[in-house]
Amino acid sequence: MQPLINSKLPNVGTTIFTVMSSLAVEHNAINLGQGFPDYEMSSELTALVNQAMQKGYNQYVHMNGLPLLRERLSEKVEQLYQTKINPDTEITITPGGTYAIYTALTTIIQPGDEVIVFEPAYDSYIPNIEINGGVPVLIPLNYPSYSIDWDLVKQKITGKTKAIIINSPHNPTGSVLSKNDIEQLKALVKHTGIFIISDEVYEHLIFDDKQHESILKYPELLERSFVCFSFGKVYHCTGWKLGYCIAPAPLMKEFRKVHQFNCFTCNSPMQFALAEFLQQKENYLQLGNFLQKKRDYLIELMKQTKFTPLPSFGSYFQLYSYTNISNESEKEFAIRLTKDFGVATIPASAFYKTETDNKVLRFCFSKKESTLECAVNRLIKL
Ligand code: PMP
Ligand code: GLN
Repeated sequence: MQPLINSKLPNVGTTIFTVMSSLAVEHNAINLGQGFPDYEMSSELTALVNQAMQKGYNQYVHMNGLPLLRERLSEKVEQLYQTKINPDTEITITPGGTYAIYTALTTIIQPGDEVIVFEPAYDSYIPNIEINGGVPVLIPLNYPSYSIDWDLVKQKITGKTKAIIINSPHNPTGSVLSKNDIEQLKALVKHTGIFIISDEVYEHLIFDDKQHESILKYPELLERSFVCFSFGKVYHCTGWKLGYCIAPAPLMKEFRKVHQFNCFTCNSPMQFALAEFLQQKENYLQLGNFLQKKRDYLIELMKQTKFTPLPSFGSYFQLYSYTNISNESEKEFAIRLTKDFGVATIPASAFYKTETDNKVLRFCFSKKESTLECAVNRLIKL
């Protein structure tokens, strides 16, 4: 008799990114859904990976990540945020940002612990909490600014609150946390045992001269935080699935206990290549400008359609309202757009557990200009 699984995630289906990307392939649609660039990454960086492989750097590196890469990351953090991070005890290289977040949550959650999540939320957070026996406490961001209602957060904190997850620049809305938000967060967690998981994978993708308010800048917050990053977003290589987590030594010690028996260590050649490539600061310092141009180009093109943009100050994404076009639910409309008009997007409702339908779709603009043009030419027909 085949054994039956008592599902740990009974209410979870296939992630919306895979659903919409598969639908895009099936209908030959332009994929502005899942967040990945369709332009080439740096050939210098791929050459460095090649060289690393040819030099024989093909065996396990240290379980916490290549020491040189961790050193270079700590130098980067010091230059960007004026914070000293110990590369031996406070950084771990991970197979992507999602894994870093999952590992941080697994490190701290005991059954019954509550974790505050702002909705819309990146779709891995809630299942990551639930699989660990935690209870997600959902707080809606204010629509349409997608800002945090800190009074509401205060009300939702209980004796069981173990952590708060923040994400700036934010997926899917492109909102960013301000200095004031950080002050509010500081006041809220002071004198509590609450951890912070800060998802900063879009750290460099920030627009309109806004400053990224990294937790790394704030020692009072960093002392209770796991800060998660992704190389995929910085170097246009989402398929590399490489990232890292920064946390104070006592927290990182426990994180590594989980990591060492789950992944142990990440692929070596890419770590050698990234350690070298990180020396070229302009590669990440000009990223915001590069993507801002893409955001603006899409906004300009979309003026020919009936979609209305909501503000995006960062990330790969912008939400567009379609209230001038249809009354359909976000999901129905996104599916019809893909099937009948050949453009795949992501319904914002996919980022909510609480039923929410503001008639907005998420567009990914990290694409070639020609891709954006082709997509908008199709949307004009709506
Ligand atoms: N957090 C957010 C908000 C993201 O959009 C992504 C992108 N996939 C990740 C984490 C994780 O990135 P990675 O592919 O490195 O796991
Ligand atoms: N982060 C990407 C997005 O939001 C995709 C990640 C994924 O496919 N899991 O589209």
